[in-house]
Amino acid sequence: MTAGPTTRFAPAPTGYLHLGHLVNAIHVWGIARARGGAVVLRIEDHDRGRSRPEYEAALLDDLDWLGLEVDRGSTTEFRVGSSPLRQSDNATRYHAALDSLRSAGHQLYGCDCSRKDLAREGGDEPDHHTCYGGRCRDRGLEPGPGVGIRLVIENRPESFTDLIRGPQRQRPALQCGDPLLRDRLGNWTYQFCVVVDDLEQGVDLIIRGEDLLESTGRQLMLARMLGRAAPPRFAHHSLIRHPDGAKLSKANHDTSLRELRAAGQTAADLLGRAANLAGLMPDARPLAPGALAPLFRAPLRFEHTML
Ligand code: GLU
Repeated sequence: MTAGPTTRFAPAPTGYLHLGHLVNAIHVWGIARARGGAVVLRIEDHDRGRSRPEYEAALLDDLDWLGLEVDRGSTTEFRVGSSPLRQSDNATRYHAALDSLRSAGHQLYGCDCSRKDLAREGGDEPDHHTCYGGRCRDRGLEPGPGVGIRLVIENRPESFTDLIRGPQRQRPALQCGDPLLRDRLGNWTYQFCVVVDDLEQGVDLIIRGEDLLESTGRQLMLARMLGRAAPPRFAHHSLIRHPDGAKLSKANHDTSLRELRAAGQTAADLLGRAANLAGLMPDARPLAPGALAPLFRAPLRFEHTML
């Protein structure tokens, strides 16, 4: 146990790590080390259709090469076999979380809506931000093959202070509607897995990119419904972008760590480049993993509100 916060680095093995992941890693390790905290490595392979063992193997190698040491969930542990920190090894825990929602009196229901159905309902946001209007709430569908599971949520706002972005107020019922916990194909969803895992693993500081800021209200609500007493704190950092403004993605081979490494860049070169792109250093000089903490010695902009 550490006196400082417990945070996590939680990549999905759906592609190779790129500079965007490295920016996240710099924040995660830098903030944890500067605050005497711990870093948990979690493999977020909940999406069984897109996750690949070879991507997991590659990301473990990349972390070792970068010299980023984790406090729980070592790369060796993942290589050896099953781990409580790998989502695909944790179906039992997700089933138990469903049971605990049921026994706390929360309402779950089967949903067989396809993306097309959702679009017809008028949800106009892409992917996981589609607002679900409750089409299946009263249809009495039994969850099973072809039928996912949703949770009825209250229409109330969630407020929190992001340590970087300041006070936030979100209304999950209007943003996303009843969240999907398991999809029609049997995949546990991102929203459900992260909340169950963060609670189970004692993660109390979540440091991630601003693209996930909108998910935070629903995750806070879900955590409370699962019985989490003290909510985690959140710090959503800016994302780095291509010069044309596009978000970096696993499809951008130009920024994949292994290609940059194959082109002769050292780990320190890449850490320095990512820290510079993230605005944490005025230049891109090489940076050792041990030198990340000094980048975060000063409190984050809204960190004082949480003391
Ligand atoms: N697994 C997510 C990703 O790779 C991160 C999830 C999170 O930090 O909540 O983008």
